[in-house]
Amino acid sequence: MTLGNLRDLYQQVILEHYKKPKHKGKTAVVHRQQRGHNPSCGDTIELTLQLNEAGDRIEDAKFEGEGCAIAMASADLMAGALRGKSVDEALEMVQRFQNMMKGEAEFPKEQRKLNVMQGVSQFPVRIKCANLTWHTLKAALESANVETANGFVSNEKEDA
Ligand code: ZN
Repeated sequence: MTLGNLRDLYQQVILEHYKKPKHKGKTAVVHRQQRGHNPSCGDTIELTLQLNEAGDRIEDAKFEGEGCAIAMASADLMAGALRGKSVDEALEMVQRFQNMMKGEAEFPKEQRKLNVMQGVSQFPVRIKCANLTWHTLKAALESANVETANGFVSNEKEDA
């Protein structure tokens, strides 16, 4: 497969997640709720997480939002990848994704679906779109509870 075909394939996967998201909505029980905003493109995301009883594992993740295909596809892919992950694993994934956007990392085989976003690292203006959902996840996981998480996080100052 040529590089051009591969790029087309990734674009198709991204568009597919944008048009037919599998994880849009709100989790049945909301343990974490966080809104995120990417002012440079206008993308907004509201992420909800359902955790296990101990609060250290993600049972379900869903998102609502408006924005470009990259931002929405990234959120849908992330929500799918988070199910069953521990909070620590999820935070490692945030780091890995951000490194991938710098062209410095990719996901291992079990999480290779997330690598479809790798091509975005070639387009600096879109990196914030792809990172928004991960940025929002980090804020959600680091907030102690729903009550303190009502503000918007913005990735305006992020040096992506
Ligand atoms: Zn965007």
